[in-house]
Amino acid sequence: MDCIWRRHYDPEVPAEVDIPDVTLPELLYRSASDFPDNPAIIFLGHTLSYRRLKQSVWQAAAGLARLGFKPGQRLAMILPNCPQTVITYYATLHLGGIIVMLNPLAAPREILDQIQRTEADTVVALDHVAPKVEEVRKALNLKHLIIASLADYLPVPWKWLYNFRARRKGQQVGPRPGTGQMSFQDLLTDHAPPALAASSSDVAILQHTGGTTGLPKAAALTHRNLVSNVAQINAWLPHCQRGGERVLAVLPYFHVFGMTASMNWPINLAGAILLLPRFDAAQVLKTIHQRRPTVFPAAPTIFIALINHPHLRRYDLSSLWGCISGSAPLPQDVQEQFEALTKGRIIEGYGLTETSPVTHLNPIAGKRRPGSIGLPFPNTSCRIVDAESGLIDLPPGDVGELLLRGPQVMAEYWQNPEETALALRHGWFYTGDLARMDEDGFFYIVDRKKDIIIASGYNIYPREVEEVLHQHPAVQDAVAFGVPDAYRGETVMAVVVPKPGMPVTAPDLFDFCRQRLAVYKTPKIIEFRRELPKTAVGKVLRRELRAEAEAKLKGA
Ligand code: AMP
Repeated sequence: MDCIWRRHYDPEVPAEVDIPDVTLPELLYRSASDFPDNPAIIFLGHTLSYRRLKQSVWQAAAGLARLGFKPGQRLAMILPNCPQTVITYYATLHLGGIIVMLNPLAAPREILDQIQRTEADTVVALDHVAPKVEEVRKALNLKHLIIASLADYLPVPWKWLYNFRARRKGQQVGPRPGTGQMSFQDLLTDHAPPALAASSSDVAILQHTGGTTGLPKAAALTHRNLVSNVAQINAWLPHCQRGGERVLAVLPYFHVFGMTASMNWPINLAGAILLLPRFDAAQVLKTIHQRRPTVFPAAPTIFIALINHPHLRRYDLSSLWGCISGSAPLPQDVQEQFEALTKGRIIEGYGLTETSPVTHLNPIAGKRRPGSIGLPFPNTSCRIVDAESGLIDLPPGDVGELLLRGPQVMAEYWQNPEETALALRHGWFYTGDLARMDEDGFFYIVDRKKDIIIASGYNIYPREVEEVLHQHPAVQDAVAFGVPDAYRGETVMAVVVPKPGMPVTAPDLFDFCRQRLAVYKTPKIIEFRRELPKTAVGKVLRRELRAEAEAKLKGA
């Protein structure tokens, strides 16, 4: 049962849109040619026009080419949202390179794992993060480590202050002498860049995800996948004014939602990106008040933090006409409270790393359904199938696994045919999410079939946490799962079976995990048991444990 229903239910949005046969850098170059003097990036008081952004991209592309960077080569970025992220992104893609985005909060062993899996040999990292790369560098085959600093794009007095503070905290500032690290500013050269070396069918991004099975792997997204999602968002929001929107970019670019909704899409629109390096509720409110963004893609945790800010009433948020919420369910009261502060709507959507990411969105103008992820995008077909067999289509109202098909669906999991074959079957992408569709074609996510934990919008693979717990000498068995958390959406809880006669405490395990995992992956709650409930074939009954823990937490 393909859901080719849109023409019927929402005549405002076409069922099909043309996907331009272009690469991502071409979207930028078109905006730079149509609106050269429009602001492209506004970052901590520093503005880069579209002309300047394109020039910087070409300078970085020329610099990378001089270092011998070739089409198909992988470049890993370990950066927060800053101008260098955008510049490196388009420069690498211009050269036909493939980008691997890493979270700057990643622990050294996670950096090692992701770089090894994708065989990236060039890394652009924030100076504060560089020591973590150096820690694992011996095990990597790195040709170049390029160091970017947030201070590079600050006005002079702020730059000094920033560097002074960083040194006082013992953080690295700029490249470390004698290590072969080079500075991002030295990468930029005024030589002409080589011609655009990418084509729309090339892989552009390798984006790490747990996917359906929970094991870390990299989704290979092509230029066409990502350009399709931009075209689909455009079709959904036809009222956007090319050259006239201001988009607040606080979602991290190392997650595909931030990458598409607050970089690729606004750049295609020739919009001004108000770029913030990290989420700070007061800073976001101040930026909205002063810089007047019109569009704000974010995750529910962000909206929750903003409406709960003690000084919310001091700020005017009425410039916003459209907010997009994704990554996790948006509570209805949060939607209503935040919407009341703006002159528009928050529309909830849904997507996955593997789908570049958006596949569903609620209508911005027409009817919408509370609690629903909305309607499928143009060119996107959906099925709900029996979750056991994965084959039998279910009628509206019945809960089953959501399958998707569309131009935004990834090509494959990078060099991982087994996981690819599990996820891409019979011409459909198996999302691992349990969902239902109502009679009007609106979709609802019921639960996750897979066990990824999403805390503050970050994906956490329980197995990764479990692997670390298992490394502790006193741990016999361990299972990790997400439990509801009012602020983060979910938080990590672990149930641990200690080895007999080897006492271990929760603080011991917190410390042990903290040294080996990013802070957001470290379990916040640890419970000890004599044994874990398991199925006949020895699989831990994770869901049962989670339900028990949820009930206990509710009762607490
Ligand atoms: P990621 O690959 O990080 O984009 O995570 C994708 C997962 O996030 C999906 O498989 C869903 O489980 C979850 N997700 C995304 N959007 C929503 C939403 N609006 N409501 C519920 N879950 C969502």
